[in-house]
Amino acid sequence: MAARLLLRTCPLRVLQLRGGTAARPLQRAMASVGGIPTDEEQATGLERRTLQALKQGKDPYSILKPKQYTGTKTDPHIVPSIGNKRLVGCLCEEDNTAIVWFWLHEGEPQRCPECGSHYKLVHHELPH
Ligand SMILES: [Zn+2]
Repeated sequence: MAARLLLRTCPLRVLQLRGGTAARPLQRAMASVGGIPTDEEQATGLERRTLQALKQGKDPYSILKPKQYTGTKTDPHIVPSIGNKRLVGCLCEEDNTAIVWFWLHEGEPQRCPECGSHYKLVHHELPH
């Protein structure tokens, strides 16, 4: 289809050069139609839904870097979940090689049994 559009919008013009040789000028086919379409104009399906959600400030497929939380009671680590509980692994200190695993339940923020960081389960609806 793009080739057909290209043929319709580009009339063949031939320039005569001094030496008698003919040269066809290079034309940008999309320039006569209205420019090169943007990602938003040509995106379809899942990509289109993702771009529309990003415009609204949402991140339905978790493609952005997660936000940083301090892990205190007032600013707990947010753990999205489609159920009412989720298994959480806490790497209490940066250099630890062992992960502390515990179940996080819906409701009040819970503390990691090892380091005391707060985690809160937030219900997350899947896009589809
Ligand atoms: Zn911990």
